[in-house]
Amino acid sequence: MALVRTAPRLTPADAVRLASELYSLHATASELPSERDRNFHLRDAAGAQYVLKIANSQESREVLDLQNRALAWLAERVPDLSWPRVVPSRAGREIEERGNYIRLLTWVEGVCLAGVRPRTPQLLASLGRALARTDSALESFSHPAARRVFHWDLRQYEMARPHLDLLPPGRRELVEPLLDACAALDWQSLRHGIIYGDANDYNVLVDAAGSRVVSLLDFGDMVYSATVCDLAIALAYAMLDERDPVAAAAHVVAAYHRERPLTAPEIDGLFPLTLARLAQSVCYAAWQAREAPENGYLNISNSPAWALLERLHGMPTGWPQEVLARACRGGAAEDELLAERRRRVGPSLSLSYDRPLHITHGWRQHLYDSRGRAYLDCVNNVTHVGHGHPRVVEAAARQMARLNTNTRYLNELLTEYTGRLIATLPAPLSVVYLVCSGSEANELALRLARAHTGRHEVIVVDAAYHGNTNTLIDISPYKFNGRGGRGKPSWVHVTPLPDVYRGPYRGEDAGARYASHVAEAAHGGVAAFICESAVGCGGQTILPPGFLGEAFSTVRAVGGVCISDEVQTGFGRAGSDFWMFQTQGVVPDIVTMGKPIGNGHPMGAVVTTPEIAASFANGMEYFNTFGGNPVSCAVGLAVLDIIRDERLQENALDAGGYLMHGLRELAGGHPLIGDVRGLGLFVGIELVRDRATREPAGQDASELVNRMKDRGVLLSTDGPFHNVIKIKPPMVFSRGDADTLVGGLNGVFEEMERS
Ligand code: PMP
Repeated sequence: MALVRTAPRLTPADAVRLASELYSLHATASELPSERDRNFHLRDAAGAQYVLKIANSQESREVLDLQNRALAWLAERVPDLSWPRVVPSRAGREIEERGNYIRLLTWVEGVCLAGVRPRTPQLLASLGRALARTDSALESFSHPAARRVFHWDLRQYEMARPHLDLLPPGRRELVEPLLDACAALDWQSLRHGIIYGDANDYNVLVDAAGSRVVSLLDFGDMVYSATVCDLAIALAYAMLDERDPVAAAAHVVAAYHRERPLTAPEIDGLFPLTLARLAQSVCYAAWQAREAPENGYLNISNSPAWALLERLHGMPTGWPQEVLARACRGGAAEDELLAERRRRVGPSLSLSYDRPLHITHGWRQHLYDSRGRAYLDCVNNVTHVGHGHPRVVEAAARQMARLNTNTRYLNELLTEYTGRLIATLPAPLSVVYLVCSGSEANELALRLARAHTGRHEVIVVDAAYHGNTNTLIDISPYKFNGRGGRGKPSWVHVTPLPDVYRGPYRGEDAGARYASHVAEAAHGGVAAFICESAVGCGGQTILPPGFLGEAFSTVRAVGGVCISDEVQTGFGRAGSDFWMFQTQGVVPDIVTMGKPIGNGHPMGAVVTTPEIAASFANGMEYFNTFGGNPVSCAVGLAVLDIIRDERLQENALDAGGYLMHGLRELAGGHPLIGDVRGLGLFVGIELVRDRATREPAGQDASELVNRMKDRGVLLSTDGPFHNVIKIKPPMVFSRGDADTLVGGLNGVFEEMERS
């Protein structure tokens, strides 16, 4: 362990002298980096190149012999890699001694993996193959010096523990569990043998094209250990500085497994061992920084290693292991999944993207796929407080274990939750019905309105969507005027979408002018006017000021009921207000809620006035088997608590404003952007082929969404011309995420402008 303090102190001049004395080699010398030895690159007059290795004074001759034997062994058995050869001295010795042991090796041409970007799947696969062949060849290799206690051996993970104290503040917590996890491994179940043990990114040599591994260098870490450690060590370094480190690891593992199949315990142990290597690396770097601060070699991977550890820490538990295990099972899984889905699931259920994603995990604002890629989720407004929020999970699991039943018994959760929901709303909205979806909420809202008014007709704005039931398709122009639609029934009145970018009215008085169409439609009396407080499917349309105010008063003037569909827009997304209708300065008669209300747990709600509720209570029971059950109420409560505790409405205002600013700047440089609009974290970018004619650029929008997916950002399109990029991420979306999104968009716009 004192090795780093006893690295030989020799200069290039000493190397030149030793080469001449011992090997009759007249060469120039330059120093190479090393953790604990002193290595020189030699070049003679004829251009022949060598490495002169002067071992640490603590190094045993037997371990050097182990290395020499292994090199000869591999040269014979793995001929597709170039292995350094040991050059005997003038005296015919493979190991010389001048206070320290000295060896001369031939030089192998190549570039360090560390400097190669991008690391293509082919290159990563070639690393896996090279290691697998090396490990296979070493299976039959033996040497007495390999059974040693060595601090870089992953089996000796405990040797790193004393250095945890040297880690910077706050980081010990990140690293200690990684060492602990090694104790939980069943080491007995892992195959053992002599391993190379040091496929770090400075020891892996790649051809000049960066397409293939040509050699592995530095056999100083050879040791008898669990053979899977060889691969784990390689993975730790192959992942450094990669945008999708787990995907990179998966490429290495898949190729390794094809060449030399891993056993089930090895597959299970692989990722914990990879993390343990990173833990060793940062511990020993901290130790060396104290013991031998002048040697920068160990620190070379230190900041990338920390960055990687932090990224891996932020990923869902279990996901990387699952990706690596899947990589071993082979590639056809997705095609099979797709084929089976096509056979078993109704064909009207669509899939996103040209090549569908197979998402297996979610955490906060990120989704994770089966191949090891992470995506910034900019579209899921259901997982409002973030994917997999532990407080939601805990609330659901706890209540599920305790009691789940219907609303026909007294239960505190129902009264507590409805109370909390009412508290978010202005008077007189104070009576709640809990249902299971946005569609159920709108369906019930229409029944309430019809019961209250005794009328049947409904006014909707063009391009709106309100749900998937028969009646709701009838009031959704987005559906009945879209593909497969059968037009509007006579009892539905469609008024123009209040779109100040593309619609007929765009000026100061647009709100009033759009509302005048609602007045016209209401003329003969209606049951209800239903409108989202910002129109999602219409194309993230922000209502012009005054629209809802004027529309509501004309509808009320004929005895109609005003329904705000807050299924997409509610629960703080507006940023400035908890409900989006508040941005229009109105109070509806009925509010419908869905999507974010249960963070993915199927819930919906209708909140109305006591008068309307009384009209509905005509003797017929309203029963909803699942609506308002204790589990749903517990989940709903958790969601409200999290919005408050994590200040998510405030975040929507801040991150949303920051994003809008970035997008407006972006628009300056890219003529495809016709309009940027939004409130809080409800944002739309409308793409046009021509800013003057505003010709919709639907094809470009779809191309952009697919290209952004390839860059790891999930978006989608909406609007009657499918030319609006919709952005409505989980509310934990940060300013940093906004930078990622805007930066990615800028790159994709540039690509699209070039082609
Ligand atoms: N209203 C609006 C505005 C919606 O966007 C949706 C769903 N996209 C619904 C209602 C229907 O909700 P659900 O799919 O939960 O039935």
